[in-house]
Amino acid sequence: MKFEWCGLLTLLIVAPLAAFQAGASKKDITPSLDRPVFIAGFGNNRTATEIHDPIWVRCLAINDGETNVAFVGVDLIGLFYEPDVIAIRQRVQQLTKKPVSVLIASTHNHQGPDTLGLWGPTPFQTGRDEKYMAWLREQIAQCVIEALDKMEPATLIFSKDDRKELSDLQLDSRLPHVKDHTLYVLQAVNRKTGKTIGTLVNWANHPEVLGSQNRQITSDFCWALYERLEELLGGVAVFWNGAIGGLITPLGEEVKVYDPVTGQPAPEASFRKAELIGKFVAEVAAEAVKGKQAVKLEKGSLRVLLRPVFIPLQNPLFRIAAGTGVLKRATYTKGKLDDRVGEVKLQRDGVTVTAKAILGEDIRSEVGVVAIYGDADRKPVALFLLIPGEIYPELVYGNITRYPGADFPDAPIEPVLMDYARKTGARFIFVVGLANDEIGYIIPQCEWDEQPPWLNNAPERPYGEVNSIGWKAARIVNEGIVALLKALR
Ligand SMILES: [Zn+2]
Repeated sequence: MKFEWCGLLTLLIVAPLAAFQAGASKKDITPSLDRPVFIAGFGNNRTATEIHDPIWVRCLAINDGETNVAFVGVDLIGLFYEPDVIAIRQRVQQLTKKPVSVLIASTHNHQGPDTLGLWGPTPFQTGRDEKYMAWLREQIAQCVIEALDKMEPATLIFSKDDRKELSDLQLDSRLPHVKDHTLYVLQAVNRKTGKTIGTLVNWANHPEVLGSQNRQITSDFCWALYERLEELLGGVAVFWNGAIGGLITPLGEEVKVYDPVTGQPAPEASFRKAELIGKFVAEVAAEAVKGKQAVKLEKGSLRVLLRPVFIPLQNPLFRIAAGTGVLKRATYTKGKLDDRVGEVKLQRDGVTVTAKAILGEDIRSEVGVVAIYGDADRKPVALFLLIPGEIYPELVYGNITRYPGADFPDAPIEPVLMDYARKTGARFIFVVGLANDEIGYIIPQCEWDEQPPWLNNAPERPYGEVNSIGWKAARIVNEGIVALLKALR
């Protein structure tokens, strides 16, 4: 009896194994400068004057004979789940009969067009150009279709690298100092020829090397990463960012990048600094897939688990931005659409203002997990944790810390993602930030600080909360992902 049961179980696990296929594509999504283009990130009214390098949508699609997954990267500050990601998925399903999970992560580029609306001429005017957005959504959908159409028999190669030099490029500007400098790679090569189809690189850092004064459209360090990686490996390079909250950045004199030509650090906020970072990351990735630690899979299976979540829109500035049409995003109350607008009182630093704001309580977002299994193995070889914003690394890797001055000093600690992800036995855990949404910073409740005294008796308020949807997001996101990880078993 016991023997038969085991036999059945093995059969069930082996049955879905099939040879992998992969296809890749890229398309230019650079906005035309015939119309004003407001550059996203940093302050308002930073209009683009020229184009340094094109910005991209890049897609690596894989298939296990049954399930299609499109890993899509876009050189944008962020893309909202609603309306944009949902609309792109619908358009893809209109264009293809194949069921496909379209997973779109923004690189968080700070030198591209404003796709969220927050960086217009003034804080009260949107920077989002709906004509560009419609074209952008179509380009992204077409890129996915092209990648699916190019599917060929593939071997998947997973690898990682954690050399110290990667850490030297990441400044962590807020306590606690937690970050992961490990770079993860998924490369798909043609099974017969070994030619690269596409390479997905996952590493955590803000693409904001060019800083707040730049007026040229560029994908920041990603531009050099793509060019160098494609030169070294061929195929299409895709970049997915990691846990970059709290705040992981290459910006500032502390992050020195030595230029081999001059022997001096590259100038701050220069294209040269961005180029050197991008090239270095590409070279590490290209070495990693050829290294001893690389794991190759010809057959296996894919599982994609996605779960919608409602997240309270606590930030009064976002509520006002939504109420005045700067932020265009649906809001919900108890799961039902709610677009009521009314007056709210906003108190900040002792000043009270009354403003028009959206009254709906929540936004709708999504969390997800992708698991890739190898031959007859119950443990996934690789996991992708899809996080809809800029998560503080301590929510992923641990060491959430209570500081004097916090607004909720006794708040319960949220579940730490790695505690659950590692239990699956996966060897490669890709932490993906800004996946299918950008809800802003995701901050542990016990580190939340909007009211004086400030954390650790600092003279000024910490940076982060102003660009966060609120302190309730962290628990909802982490509990959502943990539930999906448990569902894998
Ligand atoms: Zn950011």
